[in-house]
Amino acid sequence: MTRIASHRGGTLEYGDSTLAGFTATAAMALEEVEFDVHPTKDGDIIVHHDATLERTTDMAGAIADLTTQAVLSAVINFSHNSRPILLQELCELFDDSSVVFRCEFKPGADGNPYQGFVPRVLDCLSKEDMLRTANFSSFLLDYLDEIAEHTDRPRLWLVSPAVLTQLGTRGVLEMARLRGIPEIGVNIDKASPELMAATLDAGLEFGCWAAHSTAQISKALDMGVKIFTTDRPSLAVAIRNQKREGTGQ
Ligand code: MG
Repeated sequence: MTRIASHRGGTLEYGDSTLAGFTATAAMALEEVEFDVHPTKDGDIIVHHDATLERTTDMAGAIADLTTQAVLSAVINFSHNSRPILLQELCELFDDSSVVFRCEFKPGADGNPYQGFVPRVLDCLSKEDMLRTANFSSFLLDYLDEIAEHTDRPRLWLVSPAVLTQLGTRGVLEMARLRGIPEIGVNIDKASPELMAATLDAGLEFGCWAAHSTAQISKALDMGVKIFTTDRPSLAVAIRNQKREGTGQ
């Protein structure tokens, strides 16, 4: 069965990384909740997509340059006036949920990894007893290497369309093999049966990201990818249920 990951708690249904979106996701009939993490100036961990606040909230600036108090005073766009949340708060929300974490390590506003951030996030997840079921993702290979130094939990490489074009299928799969990365994820619009077959032949798992429309969600389900992320988790669950009923599964 193709797994569904609610991307940022369902951004197109609830706003970006909101309490309402994550609360709803925790009760949905899906398998994973995808989210991104950034450090504040004080060393706390914020769950938010962007490294900066201007695109998604009523404030501006890089999260890493702001105090926790300042970041928590931001109002997220299209969210019924929700503020960003801390990683500990997200852990509490999913304490009793069967939905597991898919935590993405994003670069800072300068495009580089946050130094020393990976172990802090893993520590937090471990203290909240969420590490033993968590998965990790990143576009940055250095982050994936660093994650592997600290935990055996699964990692996947988010391969951007540009990297896929530049390296080609063979180059991407060779790079994953060299780095010991067991799974790749590509943009749904770049996914093809040929790419998926080549990935599986190489002994890697294959997933997709950014399947937000009915057509994109259907494509991921029909291809039978391992997992896809979506900003419309309720729609994805409904389409998966329809397809299951249609095939009598
Ligand atoms: Mg992400």
